[in-house]
Amino acid sequence: MTTRELKRKKIDLHTDGRLSIVFLGCGAAFAKTLNQNNILIIKGDDHVLVDCGTKTPRVLFDHGVPISAVETFLITHSHADHVGGLEEAMLTARYVARKKPTVVITPEYEQVLWTESLRGGAEHNERSNGKELRFRDFWNVVRPRKVRGLPRDTRTATIGSIDVKIFRTRHYPQQATSWTDSQISYGLIIDDRILFTGDTQFDGDLVPGFGAKFDLETIFHDVQFFTGGIHASLDEVASLPAAERKRTYLMHYPDSYKDHVSAVDDLGFRGFARELVYYDFA
Ligand SMILES: [Zn+2]
Ligand SMILES: [Zn+2]
Repeated sequence: MTTRELKRKKIDLHTDGRLSIVFLGCGAAFAKTLNQNNILIIKGDDHVLVDCGTKTPRVLFDHGVPISAVETFLITHSHADHVGGLEEAMLTARYVARKKPTVVITPEYEQVLWTESLRGGAEHNERSNGKELRFRDFWNVVRPRKVRGLPRDTRTATIGSIDVKIFRTRHYPQQATSWTDSQISYGLIIDDRILFTGDTQFDGDLVPGFGAKFDLETIFHDVQFFTGGIHASLDEVASLPAAERKRTYLMHYPDSYKDHVSAVDDLGFRGFARELVYYDFA
């Protein structure tokens, strides 16, 4: 894996065929100096935007990509740093670009996303034959398929040449004891080689569970700098074995991350993920 800066600060939605990940931001929900922890996965002519937070349409615009140029979306969960820009994406597609983007989504999360987040700003914009608009008026839906033999209700989908597996995480509420009693929140395995935890509390069997099934070369793990709440603390993530820490970039961090750079280094992590850099996987 190598890293590469954006050319002329522009994001290119194509690669030479390599798998690339670009973090539009690596910041926590309330970070003010960092963009939100949303990523673009790009491979050849294919791409998928994973999450579309409140700031994300603007971040993309500032780097040469109108939100209507994004063809495929995948949403991990309903916090605003992950879905706050999705109404703009959806309405811009329908009323400006006149197109239907694709969303990779499970039936149970489609229900939650539509009824609890998107519906209010969407369903009453038009009426035909007495009917309001529905989710499928805005989106082409791709259903990920259940994968046997993997933990955490894992499903899989392909976006052109990109393979994503989505699995449930223990993110919220704070009191949840397992992914099974948490609200819907997903992490990803990308092309069977990269683990992206998404937002999660520290969950002891997450990394070892998938490490036993896949040859994971890079891990991107949620982090915060205290223990408690709904994210994984640095102390907790530091309990991963050294071999895993060496492959792990920390993400979704607060503005104060600079105070922890040397601690993260001393603990043997690969470092903090950086926004607006390509992570290229040969
Ligand atoms: Zn978040
Ligand atoms: Zn969250």
